[in-house]
Amino acid sequence: MGKAVLVLISMVYPLSEFDFSDSGVSGSAKRVVAIAVDGARESEAAPVFQEFQKKMNELGLYSFWRGQNHKCTTSQESHMSLPGYSSVFSGYAQKNIINNRFQGKLLYKTLFEEYPDSQLFSAWNPIVNAVSNDIQTLGRAFISGSGNKPGEDIWVMSSFRLVHDFNNRFIFVHLGDADEYAHVNNWKGYVDAIRTEADAAHEIIQSSEIAGMKETVYFIFSDHGRGRVFWQEHGPMLPESREIWMLEINPYGRPTMTGECNHIGLHAAIEKTIKGR
Ligand SMILES: [Zn+2]
Repeated sequence: MGKAVLVLISMVYPLSEFDFSDSGVSGSAKRVVAIAVDGARESEAAPVFQEFQKKMNELGLYSFWRGQNHKCTTSQESHMSLPGYSSVFSGYAQKNIINNRFQGKLLYKTLFEEYPDSQLFSAWNPIVNAVSNDIQTLGRAFISGSGNKPGEDIWVMSSFRLVHDFNNRFIFVHLGDADEYAHVNNWKGYVDAIRTEADAAHEIIQSSEIAGMKETVYFIFSDHGRGRVFWQEHGPMLPESREIWMLEINPYGRPTMTGECNHIGLHAAIEKTIKGR
């Protein structure tokens, strides 16, 4: 299915129509693909994504790693997933999302609400609680799997291949296996999942580039870190789990994200790109 779609798209958009000489400004970027690698600590993610950055280079893309050298941190004290995604989607620490609990009504609009040409892919059902103000957004949220258990990234990628629309200006893909393996105390599962998730991110970016989506900015990031000794968990009781990382990939040679390295800063960087479309 994936290959058929790529062949079809390459027929619709012949390569000659694209201006490869554009090495210019981030203002020409039209599309953001954000990929969350849930709960991957920098200490395990950095070596995997160092290799990944070489592959981006082979695709003709530039990449920029930011981690503890840039003091990257969550935007909400919880150091849990739902507040993190909520900050990325809305640009605020939403007070009705504390830890992974959601109560009442979302206080701020999300990117999905602002931009109807957007899609969300995840296996983790609670993530819809970060976008649930808007029934139209819920219709564009593809939840494949039951969440909160390891081994479901494969379903996320399946739904991505089937229903991803290249015309959309904002795509969000949530990969959850690393966090889920860690929670069930499976170290090998955790580190293997980060590798598999990097491969999935590579597939997402490569297919986008082959399809001629040359004006795309990609972000790969973690929603939270983990305990240093108690690596299985994260949250307010483990303050070091505030430490996150972000990898920006783009064709422009310099980062489009220039503000503070946190989830609200990531929201600003995404919106700066997609609102200019
Ligand atoms: Zn978790």
